[in-house]
Amino acid sequence: MTRLRLMAVHAHPSDESGKGAASLAKYAAEGAEVLVVTCTGGERGTVLNPAHPRLDGPADMGAARARETERAVRVLGVRQCWLGYRDSGSSEPGDPLPADCFARADLTAATGRLARLIRHFRPHVVTTHDGEGAHPHPDHLMAHRVTAAAFTAAGDRTAHPGMGLPWQPLKLYYSHASHPARSTALHLALRGRGRTLPYTPLPDEPAHQPHLTTRVPCAEYFPRRDRALLAHASQVDPYGAWFAVPTTVQQEVWPTEDYTLARSLVPAELPEDDLFAGITTTGDTTPAAPAPHASTVALAAP
Ligand SMILES: [Zn+2]
Repeated sequence: MTRLRLMAVHAHPSDESGKGAASLAKYAAEGAEVLVVTCTGGERGTVLNPAHPRLDGPADMGAARARETERAVRVLGVRQCWLGYRDSGSSEPGDPLPADCFARADLTAATGRLARLIRHFRPHVVTTHDGEGAHPHPDHLMAHRVTAAAFTAAGDRTAHPGMGLPWQPLKLYYSHASHPARSTALHLALRGRGRTLPYTPLPDEPAHQPHLTTRVPCAEYFPRRDRALLAHASQVDPYGAWFAVPTTVQQEVWPTEDYTLARSLVPAELPEDDLFAGITTTGDTTPAAPAPHASTVALAAP
């Protein structure tokens, strides 16, 4: 029986640990092949953990984040490769973006790169960032656009010739790491225990509550998600907002990671609790390609 395959496309290093990590760990532990594609190296990031030594410039930051990502995906039990772009840095809405950043990359070229990875790994399910929200990060928005385009292009034999044999994934999901319904539930649970969240549970602007079609129970993998987050030592403060809500409270109050099913080529009964619901691998007799690896699959930066 062919193993199920899941590809999670993220904009930056650490996104894989902060957004949907427990479900990736769960599917890997259950026998699926899971590949994280990280679109950028996060070179323009800053040290966000006050206890971490400073890093000098994009080269040091990129090297540190590559090491951190390697540790994190090992904790999650999944594989990872790079799309090969530079990130946009942390900008305010309306700020000009660096000319060489992912968010300003040519959409067709970026789609071709990801379509090549999809054709190589042959995922049944692809996940990526939500493209909505009040102020989505430009790199997250680009990852969203590129993934939606590559989902279709990878299966189109006329698109991106020379980038591998066509492969059509069956389901596309947008992941929601945090959303108002979850934040409110955690806030109320903490208040019931005489504690408060150290950050505002709801944004000032009208709350964007996504339409959740799919809630994956994965609470037993929250501790592993936490360890993967801590592997990103330059980015994650162990005493900061990521860990403001005790894991046991999260497990009790909101034991799922949540998604919106954006495209499906198989019948889907919604709501559902499994990203692979409706998918069988009968007829998919071709064995998976060898594991993509950064050194063999990632493409050079433009
Ligand atoms: Zn990010």
